[in-house]
Amino acid sequence: MTHMHFDHVGGMEMFPAAFPKATFYVQKKEYDFWIKNPFSKRAQFNRDEVALKAMADLEGTDRLALICGDQKIIPGIEVLLAPGHTPGLQAVAVNTAKGTAFVASDLSPIHRALREDLTGSVYTDLISSLASYDKIKARATSIDLIFVGHDAKLFTDFPKVAEDITRLV
Ligand SMILES: [Zn+2]
Repeated sequence: MTHMHFDHVGGMEMFPAAFPKATFYVQKKEYDFWIKNPFSKRAQFNRDEVALKAMADLEGTDRLALICGDQKIIPGIEVLLAPGHTPGLQAVAVNTAKGTAFVASDLSPIHRALREDLTGSVYTDLISSLASYDKIKARATSIDLIFVGHDAKLFTDFPKVAEDITRLV
């Protein structure tokens, strides 16, 4: 779980049953904000209460891994704490034949923003957001291997392999 905005945590109420052997990884800072910090209940945060309750129901079980910082999950997959957009967003580093690529979620709104050092309008900490740009750019083999989640170019600039699915690397 890269972060717990409604459009990313949404559907969580179905996931434990749909993926009965899955462990869900989220940064502890992210989890604590959405589940335990009263500020997250303010209207600006657009909560998905059903999904967040499903997340909270996993606390204390082996199905929920609360990560503190950067951690290898399995060989070739690592999560890196990259806050700013939210308090504990994490980007996912993936070893590929072209080098280290990132599934960077909402690290930036679109790739152009990352390239030009711009931010979107949704962040909880601007300075952390820019520091996270630097961190992930330094770890990726190329800026072209950082993929952000809301960029329409993900569907137009890469080869289509199935309906609504493109090959990024
Ligand atoms: Zn988001």
